[in-house]
Amino acid sequence: MTSPMDATDEVIEICRDLLRIDTTNTGDLDTSAGERVAAEYVAEKLSEVGFQPAIHESAPGRASVVARFEGEDPSRDALLIHGHLDVVPADASEWSVDPFGGEIKDGYLWGRGAVDMKDFDAMVLALVRQMKREGRKPPRDVVLAFVADEEAGSTYGAQYLVDEHPGYFEGATEAIGEVGGFSVSVGGDQRLYLIETAQKGIDWLRLHAKGRPGHGSMINDDNAVTALAEAVARVGRYKFPVVLTPTVRAFLEQVSQILGIEFDLDDPEQAVGKIGPIAMIIGATLRNTANPTRLAAGYKDNVIPGRASATIDCRTLPGQSEIFEEELRRIVGPDIELEYIQRQPALETTFDGALVEAMRAALRAEDPGALPVPYMLSGGTDAKQFAKLGIRCFGFAPMLLPADLNFGALFHGIDERVPVEGLQFGVRVLDRFLQQS
Ligand SMILES: [Zn+2]
Repeated sequence: MTSPMDATDEVIEICRDLLRIDTTNTGDLDTSAGERVAAEYVAEKLSEVGFQPAIHESAPGRASVVARFEGEDPSRDALLIHGHLDVVPADASEWSVDPFGGEIKDGYLWGRGAVDMKDFDAMVLALVRQMKREGRKPPRDVVLAFVADEEAGSTYGAQYLVDEHPGYFEGATEAIGEVGGFSVSVGGDQRLYLIETAQKGIDWLRLHAKGRPGHGSMINDDNAVTALAEAVARVGRYKFPVVLTPTVRAFLEQVSQILGIEFDLDDPEQAVGKIGPIAMIIGATLRNTANPTRLAAGYKDNVIPGRASATIDCRTLPGQSEIFEEELRRIVGPDIELEYIQRQPALETTFDGALVEAMRAALRAEDPGALPVPYMLSGGTDAKQFAKLGIRCFGFAPMLLPADLNFGALFHGIDERVPVEGLQFGVRVLDRFLQQS
């Protein structure tokens, strides 16, 4: 018998396999097929070493996998480790490699999903497989969830499991998942590791303007398109006030300290400006934001329509949703109607406790220059669904990155890729973390 593969080798193989399964989630049920294949692959990898995974389909092809890894002390609260199997579409003509080829080149594994988030799926699978082979158990029960549909709102994945099969998460009080735990180089040999302890709320709103329809050649002082355009422009140009939540404040204080600059509460953007490309995310967590994304009005060039509408992608800080709505109503004015098309609350937890200590220790053991810091994600993840069960969610998918890599741009980006060594680093950190969790 050949000796079993080590998890740090197997992670590359598994990640590669997963990248080669096209799990494009278009948001349309007819064109999202690969999740079932990926779920079967994951279930097979788990069964092979003695897990008893369950596959659940919320709709044809929309499959998620759940398994429980019994711990040394099953009476303790469980830890949830979750990842999604779907990816956003990739236009092959824009890429320098086949987005579903799983190519290894220049020290990177390339493909759609390489950082979002088949990398973490593979890390978890490789690690739990090795643990099983070695007869090792985590200190407490671990619930493993590999889900569909994160990229189109979680309806057919995490939300379905949480609503229809909450029993799988029985006893789980804490969770780790995507978009956290990665390194950001800010000064010399020190690397911040951004652990996600908060994420903004999602408040997608539609603005509706009504007016007097009529012929485009005539005088019309009640034009819905004009009214809507004015409101949209006001919203788009508006800068909401800075509100520092405990997470963002802690992050900025730490960054300022490392950079040797005085943290100025009145000018937090100064510190944000010095952290490189990740400022795109961090900068958006200083305040509520509202970005116009869609416009809809009219059906003919010479007809003034009676209605016009626009979609605004709003992201709100923890505790700010209502204040934000009031402010937005004031900005658009009394004649514009507001309609929520998506509303998911923000999340925020504290950066403390045994689980956070386990993250810190694991990172420092593998990277002595590691400075773990809490941060807030400007977007949302499946954590929003699991948080509904009272689970305290963290973004912790450990990854050591080259200093010059613009990691944030790779999410949903062209030529998405993950450093092979980063994957292996991640497995080692996860292993240490899990032993202490
Ligand atoms: Zn993701």
